[in-house]
Amino acid sequence: MSDENARGIVFDIKRYSIHDGPGIRTTFFLKGCPLSCWWCHNPEGISPFPIVIHHPRRCIGCGRCVTACPSGAWEWSDGRPVQNREKCTLTAACARACPSSAIEIAGKEMSVEEVLREARKDIPFFDESGGGVTFSGGEPFLQAEFLIANLKRLYREDIHIAVDTSGFCKEEDLLEAAGYTDLFLFDIKVIDPKKHEYYTGVSNLTILSNLRKLDEFLYTGQKGKINLRFPLIPGINDDHENITATADLAASMKSISGVNVLPYHSTGEGKYKNLEKKYKMRKVLPPDDEKVNETMKMFSERNIETIKGG
Ligand code: SF4
Ligand code: SF4
Repeated sequence: MSDENARGIVFDIKRYSIHDGPGIRTTFFLKGCPLSCWWCHNPEGISPFPIVIHHPRRCIGCGRCVTACPSGAWEWSDGRPVQNREKCTLTAACARACPSSAIEIAGKEMSVEEVLREARKDIPFFDESGGGVTFSGGEPFLQAEFLIANLKRLYREDIHIAVDTSGFCKEEDLLEAAGYTDLFLFDIKVIDPKKHEYYTGVSNLTILSNLRKLDEFLYTGQKGKINLRFPLIPGINDDHENITATADLAASMKSISGVNVLPYHSTGEGKYKNLEKKYKMRKVLPPDDEKVNETMKMFSERNIETIKGG
């Protein structure tokens, strides 16, 4: 399933990334995610539609957004502009009128050719560093047709491709993508299905089944590999039982190239404020070095290449 005329919604393009696969990479963040992980660093990517982000600290109080909005979605209250999201019709007039970049629209429609044009700008860096393009999100498979069309197009250009996924997607889309993908960055968050559902909004039964199918498919003749990504989050998934089960799962895989242990950090918290969303991780602190090292040891003891961070 894919069509080179497919268009998708991209909410960010990150250049010179060294955390989204090997070498220097250009990462396209596709909008929309069926999960809602408590610790998500990209809450602006969860809705499948473009959204308005307000950065109050950059606001100089000029009031231009209020007069520019044709839908009356911005009102003046207590000396500052306040947006009524229900009235917003996404004309982006407020963002265009704002002189201090205090209003931003997360989500822009792009074509496959536009993605390719952006990626081509960085080919010298890819060649120099062994890098390439990564598709992330959100959950990139939520826009499966657009994602796969991009994979096919970049594959023809011989650009190294990575896909960062939660694994919560249709099996047939995942396996079709596997024909064009060099590396899957596959998140494993919590092994217990009920706990997984509590913290992410969905059970992991589909995810674990997809991981098994992908692992088998790649083993039988495809070039791609899987890197598991384990976000280590105190009080949520850092218990011995969960880490052991995750390490055992990794050790049972045939197409694994390594594990990234990603210590939790709270840098996404400010985004929740700007989106007027509740951040549920307020009281959670990053894991200490001892815990991180102990976790990494559990993977490396099973002969799995283990890296701290992305
Ligand atoms: S246009 Fe921008 S700077 Fe001016 S009040 Fe609105 S958000 Fe603030
Ligand atoms: S899967 Fe990723 S993008 Fe989706 S909610 Fe979880 S952390 Fe955020």
